Amino acid sequence: MNCLTLDSFVPPPVQRIDSDIASRAGVDLCMLRLDLMHPHINGNKWFKLKYNLLEAQQNNFKTLLTFGGAYSNHIYAIAAAGNLFGFRTIGIIRGEERLPLNPTLSFAKQQNMQIVYCDRLTYKQRHTARLQAELQQRFGEVFLIPEGGSNLHGVRGCTEIVNQSTAFTTVCLACGTGATLAGIALALHKQQRVIGFPVLKGGEFLNQEIEKLIADYLVSGLPVGASSPASWQLVCDYHFGGYAKVNKELLLFSQEFAQAHGISLDYVYTAKMVYGVMNLIQQGWFNRGDRLLLIHTGGLQGNQVASLPLDI
Ligand SMILES: *Cc1c(COP(=O)(O)O)cnc(C)c1O
Repeated sequence: MNCLTLDSFVPPPVQRIDSDIASRAGVDLCMLRLDLMHPHINGNKWFKLKYNLLEAQQNNFKTLLTFGGAYSNHIYAIAAAGNLFGFRTIGIIRGEERLPLNPTLSFAKQQNMQIVYCDRLTYKQRHTARLQAELQQRFGEVFLIPEGGSNLHGVRGCTEIVNQSTAFTTVCLACGTGATLAGIALALHKQQRVIGFPVLKGGEFLNQEIEKLIADYLVSGLPVGASSPASWQLVCDYHFGGYAKVNKELLLFSQEFAQAHGISLDYVYTAKMVYGVMNLIQQGWFNRGDRLLLIHTGGLQGNQVASLPLDI
């Protein structure tokens, strides 16, 4: 088995975003480009996988088993990471098989992931001990990674995304499970601030989830930043109708952003966050002198979804 060498990863660059809206509001904008770290295992997903893979390797597991939807960035990243680091991978995919395979699943298959479809009712039980025991029985000794990689190992990896550099007062990012936000808050200084933009409708429920992730992490004794956690809050108004829902306005915004700054945004996560941040800046929501670091969490593979009206 390959040891987890990171030669194929590049450190994520910080890119300045020149924006009239931001400079009029006295706000400084930069973007941390996690999307550029690796062609396939990119964005926050690499950070969420890192300690899961190390744990699997240290305990001599040869197979990773995980869960996800048919367009999941997590499935895509696990398939690629398994191939790169020498693990067999099994992806339990929510719903029925649809042929031809979409780009996410055909990539996963090319990377030798074994794809197993699972009806939605059974999929809902993925966190239960009963279903997990059943999977262990069916597939043998497998290292289970939860959907999105959002366990304590995942949070630990996310503490390595940003350091306490005083160059930034505020970090902004999109949230699915909130594990990435939890990791970032645990790494930053009390005086720094993290703003999360849930991409699901009714994202308020993430407040409890994130509180729990942070509390569980703090009692686990895993490493945290000095004088952490940072204060954090969620802005729940920029979900655009719900998970993976887009409208013309969001697509146009992404197109203009790409033209102006040379940065492609994924529609499911980062585009919604950046739209939200620019909107809040216009409303005077941030303080003059705030220095914002926006996290590009990757996920561009998801933009290949055929049903999106891309040719607007
Ligand atoms: C998974 C994912 C997220 C959400 O991360 P959480 O830790 O679940 O909040 C954000 N952006 C992209 C591109 C993702 O793939």
